[in-house]
Amino acid sequence: MKIVLLGPPGAGKGTQAKELAKRLKLAHISTGDLLRQNVSKDTALGKEAQGYMNKGALVPDELVSKMLIERITRADVKDGFILDGFPRTIAQAETLDAMLRDNKMMIDLAVYLDSTEKVIIQRLSGRLVCSKCGANFHITNMPPKINMVCDGCGSSLYQRSDDKEETIRRRLDVYKKESAPVIQYYEAKGKLERINADLDAGVVLDEIIRLAK
Ligand code: AMP
Repeated sequence: MKIVLLGPPGAGKGTQAKELAKRLKLAHISTGDLLRQNVSKDTALGKEAQGYMNKGALVPDELVSKMLIERITRADVKDGFILDGFPRTIAQAETLDAMLRDNKMMIDLAVYLDSTEKVIIQRLSGRLVCSKCGANFHITNMPPKINMVCDGCGSSLYQRSDDKEETIRRRLDVYKKESAPVIQYYEAKGKLERINADLDAGVVLDEIIRLAK
């Protein structure tokens, strides 16, 4: 099963993708996580990507697509994947399709997590992320049991530098301009399902699992 999760920042793509990967036994591939790993290891890609990420802009298609293809061809992806944060432009969607086609595969399902701006800003401005396992928490909606410590692995939590209100607004503008057209791309292919992602995370998860079956 090959699933892509679409939707604005803060719609819950990361949270849903992590759970889905566990339940459906698929690889979770987050281009945002891969880029942040490159930034923290100070790789050539990380150095190039960091400026774009800090501004809330998209990292150029060529760099992200190359990184994604390298990841998607690894052995753990053979049973399928959940893509979180990719494709974010039509060019990325076309690159992905061409790559899958060459390997006689295709995307089975595109889920659009539709969320209102009010909920997005509330979620992102309170989001806390585990520095080790990447689990997401929220200052008020889903606080960790111990202040700033991950319930799962015990590592420290941090607030992403691009989760500041000003950068969130810029990311939403970029999303509307560059990423929203990807929704129509999958709709035209008959692959798209929409879900109201303002609902409780558990309700959204059950709905995606139902669609994936
Ligand atoms: P995310 O963790 O998905 O919110 O991504 C964080 C940041 O990484 C984004 O704001 C972009 O700067 C960059 N990024 C992640 N995925 C992509 C992508 N598919 N294309 C371009 N930039 C990306």
